[in-house]
Amino acid sequence: MSSVPHRQMYIDGKWTGGEENHEPYRIIDPASGDLVATVDRGTVVDADRAVAAAKAAFNLGEWRRTPVTERAAVLRRVAERIAERMDELTLLQSREIGAPVRLAGAFHIGLPIAHLQYLADQAELYDFAKTGPEIGPVPASGLIRREPLGVCAAIVPWNIPLLLAIWKVAPALAAGNSVVLKPDEKAPLTLVELVREFEAAGLPAGVLNLVTGDGEDVGARLVAHPDVRKIGFTGSTTVGKDIMRSAADSVKRVTLELGGKGPNIVLDDADLDTAVDGALFACMAYSGQACEAGTRLLLPASLHDEFVARLIVRVRTLRLGEPTDPATDLGPLVSRAQQQRVLEFIEAGRAAGATVAVGGGVPTGAAFAAGHWVEPTIFTNVTNDMRIAREEIFGPVLSVLRYETVDEAVAIANDSDYGLSAGVWSRDESRAVEVAERLEAGMVYINDWHVISQFYPFGGSKQSGLGREVGPTALDHYTEAKFVSIDRSGGLEGKAYGLVLSPAS
Ligand code: NAD
Repeated sequence: MSSVPHRQMYIDGKWTGGEENHEPYRIIDPASGDLVATVDRGTVVDADRAVAAAKAAFNLGEWRRTPVTERAAVLRRVAERIAERMDELTLLQSREIGAPVRLAGAFHIGLPIAHLQYLADQAELYDFAKTGPEIGPVPASGLIRREPLGVCAAIVPWNIPLLLAIWKVAPALAAGNSVVLKPDEKAPLTLVELVREFEAAGLPAGVLNLVTGDGEDVGARLVAHPDVRKIGFTGSTTVGKDIMRSAADSVKRVTLELGGKGPNIVLDDADLDTAVDGALFACMAYSGQACEAGTRLLLPASLHDEFVARLIVRVRTLRLGEPTDPATDLGPLVSRAQQQRVLEFIEAGRAAGATVAVGGGVPTGAAFAAGHWVEPTIFTNVTNDMRIAREEIFGPVLSVLRYETVDEAVAIANDSDYGLSAGVWSRDESRAVEVAERLEAGMVYINDWHVISQFYPFGGSKQSGLGREVGPTALDHYTEAKFVSIDRSGGLEGKAYGLVLSPAS
């Protein structure tokens, strides 16, 4: 048997096994079922050690008092190293979560580089202290300081781990906080590499810690821990709600990036070639395992049949297969549990009366004998009350709905608990923008999808989340405003004391 690498946690500047001797995680390649690595399984004891180390490092203040240009330089060094290791990390990511390498290279590993560099730039531009106007009538002035919060916990899912970790870790560190990073149980490997690079870039001990452990104990402990001041969380809406409740006990700051059910509206003047491919890109990228995927396709009745016919032809051209092959379009789902969940949704769609226009099962053939595969599936005759239109499936399943008027399309789109992403396809930009303004979503894509840019805020409305990540306000979520007033009168004159203190006799 060939040996596979074993990875540890990183606490207080040291790579370490768990305090308690638990069976390590087995990271399994979702395409082949092969063992990729084993990883120590931490517990609440390790979570507590990590928080204590992070708190001690914050109180020591070495990192927080490091000039911001040097903090930004650390982020840039890490970005450079990820760029140097691009091919290796792309392959690692692909084997860990089954992301096809073409996608993984650009999204999973490529985007984090640009986002880290941008967040370094943002840190240097950030107003950590700014003088305000004179406060009359006394000669006094005010400072508005943006100060780090203390210990921040970053809790990350498995689908785009490196990018989602960087959205939390980078602004937190750039602002001078300490961080405890908790990866998902299935996808810690690129985050181990991220932490290695921060270590090599010279981050002081305790400032960044990595605890690999289960969500229900390590994750929940970080959320409940009295010394953690902020939770940056990406994951399911169910867990997000639990986190918000638990964080309330200590009035922790939270940023929540949760689930979605993106409505994708094709207007009757859309360019059909672009919109057909766009609808598939929106829903099927990474086999539908993207929170901001476009999973409800809203077609005007006048175009419906032609559009669906073209979708079916096009979806059949998608190549399912080995994720490490650059020719592959779609890979497997991340786990057996995720595959079963998606297949159950497909059954629920059938049972509710929707029609499977294409797909609907597990692909057959030797290439799919191991691993967790689901065919790209398109449902027609979907109504917005069906589970396949209301719940996040997180698989390659597109629900097609028909509409008569644009008002009806907007009403269907907004009739959802979620509000993460939405899309509009039209040749008339002003018409598309008008529709975009009416959609309840944190992000609306016109004639495209999956537009994730470091320059723009990412996040959702309604039950898709709270707060925004990356973009120009990224550091606001990892700092707190402090008002410092400075009286320069040198005496009693002009002060408000007289409101309370009568003149001394
Ligand atoms: P999940 O909520 O089960 O897990 C996400 C993370 O939370 C993992 O690290 C997990 O260990 C941890 N966790 C689980 N239970 C916890 C608890 N009680 N307390 C603290 N932490 C806990 O999510 P998942 O199902 O694995 O991931 C997919 C979900 O993530 C989807 O719903 C998807 O839409 C969402 N997602 C959202 C975004 C976004 O930016 N809005 C991006 C990617 C994924």
